[in-house]
Amino acid sequence: MKTPIYLDYAATTPVDKEVLSAALPFYTQSFYNPSSSHALGQKAAAAVDFAREKCAAAINASPSEIYFTSGGTEAINWAMSGLPHNKKHVVVSAIEHDAVMACAKRFTENGCDVDFVKPDEHGIIRADALKSVLRESTGLVCVMTVNNIVGSIQPIKELALAAHEVGALFFTDAVQAVNSIDIDAKYTDVDMLAVSGHKFYAPKGIGLLYVKRGLSVKPFMVGGEQERGMRAGTVDVPSVVAMGVAIEMAQKNVQEYNAHASEVANAFTSLLKFGNVVQCENKTADIISIVFDGVNGGRLAIALSCSGVCCSVGSACSAGSATPPQTLIEMGVKNADCAVRFSFGKNTTVTSAKTAAQIVNTTVKRLMRV
Ligand code: PLP
Repeated sequence: MKTPIYLDYAATTPVDKEVLSAALPFYTQSFYNPSSSHALGQKAAAAVDFAREKCAAAINASPSEIYFTSGGTEAINWAMSGLPHNKKHVVVSAIEHDAVMACAKRFTENGCDVDFVKPDEHGIIRADALKSVLRESTGLVCVMTVNNIVGSIQPIKELALAAHEVGALFFTDAVQAVNSIDIDAKYTDVDMLAVSGHKFYAPKGIGLLYVKRGLSVKPFMVGGEQERGMRAGTVDVPSVVAMGVAIEMAQKNVQEYNAHASEVANAFTSLLKFGNVVQCENKTADIISIVFDGVNGGRLAIALSCSGVCCSVGSACSAGSATPPQTLIEMGVKNADCAVRFSFGKNTTVTSAKTAAQIVNTTVKRLMRV
């Protein structure tokens, strides 16, 4: 059997060769615990410090503003674990990942009010829409940088400003943004920002939370003094080193990445005989959702997998759900249950994109007849 064509890079990416080779010595030769005060432990600690500097520089932050986590979900849970004193209102965009939605639900269960801001038909959260739900009691506003279903890019600087005008904190889930957007924590003036290594060619199980200097957040896990007492637990040195290399490379190569993603996405969509790409006014090239009227998206994704194209209906975290992605519903996309998400990566070739399009054509045609 031929190797399937992987068009699900928004779910996860492979670890880059350079990233892997930077990490490997920390499994075997320099395997030491960075919390040990002896010379060998301090060698590992120096590698963690160096990686923290790289991560900070990549998003225009200071090393002291970076906390390593076990991934995007943990960083989100941390960012959304509390509210400033006397605040009882939270605003979340209606197109967030399940991790943010689950944290929003927890706020409701704890007696807070939560408002969901809808996107427009382009999948964009407008500042005016946000402003209409903000109140003096709003403590936290959460809007993702890049949507994981349609790739829409949110006006983060403008949204953060609107939140600050009422004295609320602004948190952005930038998990899908690292490859395709120049991330600048200072320029956008966000208070917290989450990223996840496995979306930009680092291993799974590593991420970070940026917390703006001066902002007081509670420790996420208690125990040892790791991460300046804010996130206890022995630091995963190889993964941290890997993420430092990967985020530096990703942010350096944003232009090149976007040019490649556009090329393969165009090669793919221009050969399709069926389907309507969900359009967004401002989007990344690497994520597209396509509605194939008359064909159930879940069935199509399974049929495509059997025919050698691996894609998905929505995020991997909500795979198995019978409902279409909330993002498409909120955007008012017709026949959202007929949508499939394709996402492209550094290793997607024009040839494989073209072959995938042909497989999609024959599979859709076959399912339409059934
Ligand atoms: N946020 C977004 C937008 C995502 O796409 C994902 C992963 O799919 C996550 C958060 C969760 O990140 P992790 O898999 O590192 O927990």
